[in-house]
Amino acid sequence: MSAFQADSQQLILALSKGRIFEDTLPLLEAAGITVTENPETSRKLILPTNDPNVRVLIVRATDVPTYVQHGAADFGVAGKDVLLEHGGEGLYQPIDLHIAECRMSVAVRNGFDYETAVRQGARLRVATKFVQTAREHFAEKGVHVDLIKLYGSMELAPLVGLSDAIVDVVSTGGTLRANDLKEVEAIMDISSRLIVNQAALKLKRERLQPIIEAFERASNK
Ligand code: AMP
Repeated sequence: MSAFQADSQQLILALSKGRIFEDTLPLLEAAGITVTENPETSRKLILPTNDPNVRVLIVRATDVPTYVQHGAADFGVAGKDVLLEHGGEGLYQPIDLHIAECRMSVAVRNGFDYETAVRQGARLRVATKFVQTAREHFAEKGVHVDLIKLYGSMELAPLVGLSDAIVDVVSTGGTLRANDLKEVEAIMDISSRLIVNQAALKLKRERLQPIIEAFERASNK
């Protein structure tokens, strides 16, 4: 463990900005923890809380499992989409928090006949950030794909001919519609999970357990 974490009373929570942060705040409140700075306006990457022993790391959503796996954070909140890509090594995943709910879907440009392309056994070019999930999905369907790894703005790929389809998370579908795309297949429902470093769960159980239980109660409401 790093010097940063040497004090076993200290708890470090890893969160990403945006929807996960916003949806986690009420769960933290249920555990008696108030984050005292707003990550949207603060430039700090380590945010204080009302509890001097609890701090919040603000990291990219895809980095949350990595910080928790290596013990740089004791616990964190990450989407199932991100956890599937990470693989879950070194993580204890105790609770589906039912927050940041959305679905992972295949989308194509309006006018592209996906069903016919699949039926005819065409080889599809699929752009996505979620290559593991996409690979498994198309392998199960027996569809041959060339996966193109992107890190953002997947919606652009079919519009400029980089790919035939994308695999992305969809919530309202507004972004797809605004970009002349349509959802053709839902792959799975997604929600965010509380993940805990396995060593921290043993070494800091007394501190972590009440917070995990408060999250569990608040997320089941
Ligand atoms: P939508 O509401 O379908 O227009 O979603 C807008 C964008 O937000 C999409 O491009 C998604 O990449 C992203 N998004 C929506 N919901 C989530 C979520 N729960 N987790 C991560 N990204 C999301």
